[in-house]
Parts: sequence; C-alpha cells; structure tokens
Amino acid sequence: ILKLTSENKDFSYLQNSFNHLSNLIGNPVINKNIKTHEPLLKEYIKDFESVLDTVKNMEHNDAKEIELISQISALSQPIVQGEPANIDVESLNRLKSIIIEINAMHAEEIKEYMGKVRETFNNARQVIFVIFAASILGTVFIGYNEARLIIRPINKLRIGTRKVAEGDLEHRIDIHTADEFQHLAADFNNMAEKLHDRTIKLEKLTKEFEKLSISDELTGLFNYRHFYNVVKSELERAKRYKTIFSIFILDIDNFKHYNDKYGHLGGDKLLKMLGRFLRKNTRSADVVCRYGGEEFAIMLPETDKNHTVILADKIRQLIQIHKFIYEKSQPLGNITVSIGVSSYPADATKINELIERADKALYRAKSEGKNRVCGPVAS
Ligand code: GH3
Ligand code: MG
Ligand code: MG
Repeated sequence: ILKLTSENKDFSYLQNSFNHLSNLIGNPVINKNIKTHEPLLKEYIKDFESVLDTVKNMEHNDAKEIELISQISALSQPIVQGEPANIDVESLNRLKSIIIEINAMHAEEIKEYMGKVRETFNNARQVIFVIFAASILGTVFIGYNEARLIIRPINKLRIGTRKVAEGDLEHRIDIHTADEFQHLAADFNNMAEKLHDRTIKLEKLTKEFEKLSISDELTGLFNYRHFYNVVKSELERAKRYKTIFSIFILDIDNFKHYNDKYGHLGGDKLLKMLGRFLRKNTRSADVVCRYGGEEFAIMLPETDKNHTVILADKIRQLIQIHKFIYEKSQPLGNITVSIGVSSYPADATKINELIERADKALYRAKSEGKNRVCGPVAS
C-alpha cells in the first residue's frame, strides 16, 4: 500500500509541477513578455524536468503506462531543451491531457489494489476468527489437560497427605498419569504402607509394654503401681459420684517358714498358686494385685466395710481349707492368711490414709494371732 501511495504521489508531483509551468506560460502577463520572465520560467522548467526524470526512473510494468511515459517524455523534450519563448501551446495542452490520463490511470490502478487489499482483509477476518476459535479450543484443551494431568493429581496427593497425617494410614493414592505424579503416588503409597506396618508394630509393643508396666512378673496379677493408680481413680470417682469402695491387704502367715522349708522357688510356686486362687475367688470387678513379697491387695468397688469384711473372711476360710502343696509343715498346719480391711469414706478419705489404715488393720490381725480379718479400729 505504501509503495502504491508513493508512486501515486510521484505522478501527482509530475502533474503539480506541470500545472505550475503551464499556468506560468498561460499567464497573459508572462506570455507577453516571456524574455523578461525567462529566468523564472527556466526554474520551473528545471523543476518539471527533475520530476519527469524521477517518473521515468520508476519501475513501469504496464505497457500502456510505458507508452504514456514515452509520449510525455517526447512532448516534454522541446520544453526542456528549447527556449521558453518557443514553447508551443498546443503541445503543452496535449502534454497536459496525457499527464491527466496517466494520473487517472494510476488512480484506477490504486483503486483496484485497494479492492484487493480490502478482500484480503475480509479473508483475514475469517482467518482471525478461525485463529480465535482455535485459541479458545486450545485454551479449553490445555485447561482440561491441566486439570486432568496436574490439578487432579495434586489434589489427590494433598488429600492423601492430609488423611495420613490425620491417622488414616490405610488411605492410598490412586494416580495413573504415567508421569512423575504416578511415581510420586507410588512412593507415597509405599511410605504409607511402611508407616502403617510400623504403627501396628508400635501399637502392639506399646500394649505389651503397658501390660508389663502394670503386671507382676511372678503371679501375672497387677502390680503395686497399678493398685495405687486404681485406688486413686476409684477414690476420685467415689468422691464425684458419692459412692463407696473398700480395699484389703492380705499377707501369708509364716511365709518365711515356708520359704525356709521348701526354698525360694517353692515359695514362688505358692505365691503363684495363691495368686490364681485369689483371682478365681473374687468378683470380676474386684482388682487383684500383688502388693509385694507375700502380700496381696484387692480393691472392691461399690462395697462397704461390713460386706468387705464378710468377703475377706470367706476368702480367708477358703484359703485355710484349700489344699496347698507342702502346707502341712506350716506352724498352723495349713496355709493361712491375715487380712486388713479399710473403706472409703468410713475409714479414710485420702489414698495414703486408706492404705495405711488397711496396713494397720493387717498388723492388728497378725498381732491378734494371725489367720483372721481385721478392720481399722474406730478413731
Ligand atoms: P507373718 O506371718 O508375720 O507374715 O510372717 P512371715 O514369715 O510371713 O513374714 P516375714 O516378713 O517374716 O517374711 C516374709 C518372707 O517372704 C521373707 C521373704 O524372703 C519372703 N519373700 C518376699 N518376697 C518373696 C518372693 O518373691 N518369693 C519368695 N519365695 N519369697 C519372698
Ligand atoms: Mg509380709
Ligand atoms: Mg507373712
């Protein structure tokens, strides 16, 4: 378009330049006295000649145009080379009409080109529409793929991580994108699997450890630490719900004698047997513990002192009549026990006091001749 415009301009220049010259020659004042105005006319002729040269040097492909240019060139020859006074008005007019013609021809040519340009633009509009539609489809496709290949796997990984962190160790991530995400999901699942296995092992070990930490190794009963904690929590519960409970401490009579006679291992055997016996002859809610040495302690929930003394005495009698190994050589002819009882809230309201009162009652049972049950003396 720029090329055509500049060519058009050149033809306009030619016309302009010619018009100036022609007007000057046609001017009656100048025409009458051409000699006087010759220097001015020569200037205009020079300008026309220069513009004509430029036009001739332009590239001309059209035969008609070439023909017209050569006619312009031929008609201009006398003007350019001759004397201004000899310029023939008729050939000037002919020149004028040819210049107008070439200008008009060129204008037509431009119009034609403009039509083609417009058509190209119309086609371009369709092309732009196609490009626009393709861009939208492309964006949608990219968005879909992004969601399918990137966002969804990331979400799955994020949810999986959160679930595992919250403790759902059986959660697994399901990604089949055949890329790094799939590898990452496989690694994640592997990690979760190991974490799951280890956690199960750890939970098992913790349970075993907890059981060990509250058990007595020899008898399998609860140990003193557990007895103390059970009494403590029962005391809190009883205070809150205004309930009652009791404890008793049981000590084997003359156990040293038994030990001396049958050895330490023999004594251990008796402790185990008595442990089993106590478990068997108490209620399931009663907590039976080995207090230490040859002493046992039992916590009886929801049981008052009188009832506890009755239960304790029943156990004492059962032990006395039960046939324990080698018991005949014991000083009393049997395996017997002494028991001290104390109750909440009748005897004490604090844990250490409660245990101490049961201990003292036991001491009294011993000092009163063994093989008996005693409660605390009213203070
Ligand atoms: P009392 O009738 O006054 O209770 O007398 P006792 O002989 O039962 O009491 P004493 O305290 O004089 O002796 C208890 C013995 O229990 C002493 C100790 O060697 C023994 N003993 C403590 N723990 C164990 C144990 O785990 N196994 C065995 N075999 N003996 C133990
Ligand atoms: Mg003892
Ligand atoms: Mg004893």
